[in-house]
Amino acid sequence: MPKVADLASLQQHDDILAGLTTNLSETRADLENDSAHRAAQAAVAEADEHCASLEREQNGLEDEIAILREKISREEGRLYDGTVNLPKELTDLQQEIASLRSHLSDIEDTELALLDKLEAAETSQKEAHAALGREEAATREKQNRLENIIVKVESEIAATNSERESCRGRLTASLLAQYDDLRRRKGGIAVTHLRAGACTGCRVSVPPSARKRSLDPETPAPCPNCERILVGY
Ligand SMILES: [Zn+2]
Repeated sequence: MPKVADLASLQQHDDILAGLTTNLSETRADLENDSAHRAAQAAVAEADEHCASLEREQNGLEDEIAILREKISREEGRLYDGTVNLPKELTDLQQEIASLRSHLSDIEDTELALLDKLEAAETSQKEAHAALGREEAATREKQNRLENIIVKVESEIAATNSERESCRGRLTASLLAQYDDLRRRKGGIAVTHLRAGACTGCRVSVPPSARKRSLDPETPAPCPNCERILVGY
């Protein structure tokens, strides 16, 4: 293969490799990104804790209700068992029982309101668990898909690398040094082409003398403007 064609081919392989390497690192980053899964796990933990906290609150109210009912029953027993006879004491006891009943009624209302909240929280909890299940399935599917892509891209990189190496093997050390130096200095592009009379690297019009030189397949000719190796055919 003529030297200039080898240089153009080397540039092509390097371009392909750059694209594949970017693709590989983006795919790996995507694979490691489990933010949606972690958000679903956090939502489940929060929903579980909210339900547990409401249940603890409900248990506390139930205990309070049981204690009050027992107290009311005891006080009502005293009302009829003949231990309290004085009218003043009877009135006081009746007032005490009325006050206890009113307090009980308040707590029972509080518990009813709490049960509504608990029902809503349990619905949210079920939804959060279902969403986590869906997210886990999606994560497994994504992992399989991305792992397959990574294997494919890695094998494409290996194949391109070996083609690139054989391409480099055909070029002289001084041409390789020139190519590598241009790639370093010119944003990764060492070889450009002549299109409609202009260099594809710098887009500047190429004078006829340089166009003519760029047609030689054996001697690399630089673009007079950007210095990159110009291929005119
Ligand atoms: Zn140029």
